Amino acid sequence: MSPLLDHYQRESIIGQAYAFAEEAHRGVLRASGEPYFTHCLEVAETVHGWNLDEASVAAALLHDVVEDTSYTLKDIESRFGPEITTLVEGLTKLKHLTYPEKERKVENLRRFVISFCRDLRVLIVKLADRLHNMRTLDSLGTDDQKKIAWETLEIYAPLAYRLGMQRLSGELDDFAFPFVYPEEHRWLVGAVKDSYETRLRYAQKLVPLVEKALAEHHISPVHIDARAKRYYSLYRKLHRYDMDLEKIHDLVALRVIVPDIEACYTALGAIHGLWSPLPNQFDDYISRPKPNGYRSLHTTVFCVDHKITEFQIRTQEMHDEAELGIAAHWGYQQIKSSKYHAAHWQGIQSRHELLWVEQLRNWQKTFTDHAEFVDSVKTDFFKDRIFVVTPQNDVIDLPIGSTPVDFAYRIHSDIGDACVGAKVNGKIAQLEEELHSGDVVEILTRRGKKPSEGWLAFLKTELARKHVKSALRGSDRKLKEKLVPKETEFKITNLDRPGYLKDVTVIFAKQKINITYLQSQTDHRSVFSLVTLRCTTLQLEKIEKILVQLKRVEGTKEVSYKTSR
Ligand code: MN
Repeated sequence: MSPLLDHYQRESIIGQAYAFAEEAHRGVLRASGEPYFTHCLEVAETVHGWNLDEASVAAALLHDVVEDTSYTLKDIESRFGPEITTLVEGLTKLKHLTYPEKERKVENLRRFVISFCRDLRVLIVKLADRLHNMRTLDSLGTDDQKKIAWETLEIYAPLAYRLGMQRLSGELDDFAFPFVYPEEHRWLVGAVKDSYETRLRYAQKLVPLVEKALAEHHISPVHIDARAKRYYSLYRKLHRYDMDLEKIHDLVALRVIVPDIEACYTALGAIHGLWSPLPNQFDDYISRPKPNGYRSLHTTVFCVDHKITEFQIRTQEMHDEAELGIAAHWGYQQIKSSKYHAAHWQGIQSRHELLWVEQLRNWQKTFTDHAEFVDSVKTDFFKDRIFVVTPQNDVIDLPIGSTPVDFAYRIHSDIGDACVGAKVNGKIAQLEEELHSGDVVEILTRRGKKPSEGWLAFLKTELARKHVKSALRGSDRKLKEKLVPKETEFKITNLDRPGYLKDVTVIFAKQKINITYLQSQTDHRSVFSLVTLRCTTLQLEKIEKILVQLKRVEGTKEVSYKTSR
């Protein structure tokens, strides 16, 4: 008897989906030799365990029916209605999706997957499906193993992470790791003496000890999180530490969230009173935040049984900032590594690229109870966007209603200007035709061609409209000015001394740059202060010049900048 059916009546929609899927897959075995239906049931159990609604659980039971049996979507619709059918349809489409395995632009692939999940419930059921596939990957042939594991590592685990499902993301990573990098995995598991499970159990045992020590100092922690580092995450981190395991101190880590800043320092004292710290492993990012604003106390101690353990101590506010910071930082990394770094960073597109990541993160943060959760996953996040593909397999996102000309300008203004025709899915299309998600769009150009005024009647994107207007005016100088960010912000960590601010502002004055905002924050616990300075629009070369000069000012420790529109 399945625990799932303990929850639902046989007559309920889930009871019916159960019976239907079991019958449909009857007689079919998985590679492991088990009845195929056991897979569908496992996926449904997982989805149920994540508190998704009944339609999602039913769709999980039915997710392989259309693909693997003689029943069609019409059969599903007549029995289960449009909502469940739409979910099953999404899952079936997703299964058909193929992409080159060695595609380097994995971000494209992630978006491509997202584009097929107009209802986020589809993606979540897909993640449950993938989790079970990974758990049972051993019974497949080597080629399939590699392909599925690679997809998991590069596409599904990162998507799970962005949905805020961090535990699932780590599990998927670690299931896939040995199949994608077998030798590296073997080496790493051998080199790390304690297994993940052992380390996690160890970390969990520390929690009551820390609680007791804090109580003695009259601190009641908001939360203590015991963590062991996952293998794949460790493997990635090692690349930044010369593959030297000795340099990694967070194989076991505790994150201690306390009510206020004072409690951070008291908690630190309490922990150091219990276990002795490693020399030179204490970082006070509260009095001296990282240039990206990150604040926390970090210390590493010889803990119970003399095992090295990292502690991160922070307030709830610092914690929330750090969590959001991951999304922001991640987005910036993506842009920095792209070929068109400068153009992207300054262009309108980059805002969109960050936006969907932020939307996902915020979505995850905003729901507090079950009903709200279900409502929010039902919402169609991408209802305003479509995702189309270039012949080179790049995924381009555009507002809904966009046309081939919008697409052309999104690729490059020269392509937009010279556009004379388009092929959509291999067929010649009208320039004003509306594009749809999944369309493969190819632009036909003729050299010397000028944009036509008539395009303005159907263009959807502001970017394309601006280009056309300015090309018609015969000058795009104004446009280029508009694409430059409105404001540049510098953050300078410095050793405070008399006259420091003056030396900084002189640099800007000499370049005839207007400073619009200037603030210096000093923390009484530290000799460092943080200067925040904003000024009007700066070109990238100018920013670089200023950075060099700021670093030369006596007392400057670290400088970072960002631009905004
Ligand atoms: Mn499946």
